[in-house]
Amino acid sequence: RAKQQGRGTYRFFEPLMDAQARARRDMEADLRTAIAEQQFEVHFQPLFNLARKEISAFEALVRWQHPVRGLIPPIEFIPLAEETGLIIPIGEWVLREACRQAITWPEDIRVAVNVSPVQFRNTGLNAIVLQALTHAGLAPDRLELEITESLFIENVEATLASLHALRAIGVRVALDDFGTGYSSLSYLRAFPFDKIKIDRSFIVDLLKEDGSTAIIRSITALADALGMETTAEGVEEVEQVDILREQGCSSIQGYLLSKPVRDDEVAGFIRQLQSRADAFRAAA
Ligand code: C2E
Ligand code: MG
Ligand code: MG
Ligand code: MG
Repeated sequence: RAKQQGRGTYRFFEPLMDAQARARRDMEADLRTAIAEQQFEVHFQPLFNLARKEISAFEALVRWQHPVRGLIPPIEFIPLAEETGLIIPIGEWVLREACRQAITWPEDIRVAVNVSPVQFRNTGLNAIVLQALTHAGLAPDRLELEITESLFIENVEATLASLHALRAIGVRVALDDFGTGYSSLSYLRAFPFDKIKIDRSFIVDLLKEDGSTAIIRSITALADALGMETTAEGVEEVEQVDILREQGCSSIQGYLLSKPVRDDEVAGFIRQLQSRADAFRAAA
């Protein structure tokens, strides 16, 4: 009826709210189906160690192969999955799948898995991680869990305890998207991360000479002093690599190397990059 009344009035608003609530409800139902029918896929993006000139890891990134809407990126469904708690079964599936793939890769290549704060608040995380490792037969130090600073907002003590428990199993822990949250430095002091992932926003600006280089230098110096590695996220330009190497960054990740690829493309990618690196070493 609102349609017949022509140009926009507040009458449009209520149906819009209904539509949004309905869309949300539909999506939640779709998510439940997706879990039951395993409509998720894990794609893998390489991390490249600058000193060793080798792939050091692949990061597991979930996608949803929706029967009608096609491939849906994580930003479009992770927030709802977190609100509804559905991230717990989804996250568990990603973890198992990531470990299952990693066992087929060369032993010096790790797998990194993103873990939501909601999964952390759930006390079962430790057992889930152990089970995924055992089930795949993967050594714990080949798994790196990526967490964001938002994890620390709520209950710092409990968070630290659960991080230490995971560390005790032997898995590695990386601080993701570093520099985008609040009072990052206190978390670095409170918990011995294995790695800091420098957020893409700092990397994008590297070529602008607006102070980003100095920030990268400070982060890598701090990480060095604390015995942590660094990964630069979102590297797209070769010129960024030169700066990052000069500034002491341990590894890079980004479209320059590769977009995230399907699991069956990983082996070919490793071979291809390795032969390029071999040629490079032979020429050097
Ligand atoms: P993230 O963990 O920081 O992952 C990096 C994101 O940056 C990925 O987006 C990746 O595809 C993208 N990226 C990598 N290189 C480049 C580049 O050179 N340029 C640009 N523009 N982007 C680049 P993606 O896969 O869409 O994932 C987005 C976020 O969703 C992730 O950010 C992570 O926070 C979350 N996420 C993905 N998979 C999972 C998961 O299994 N569990 C949880 N809890 N969160 C996940
Ligand atoms: Mg990540
Ligand atoms: Mg990240
Ligand atoms: Mg990021």
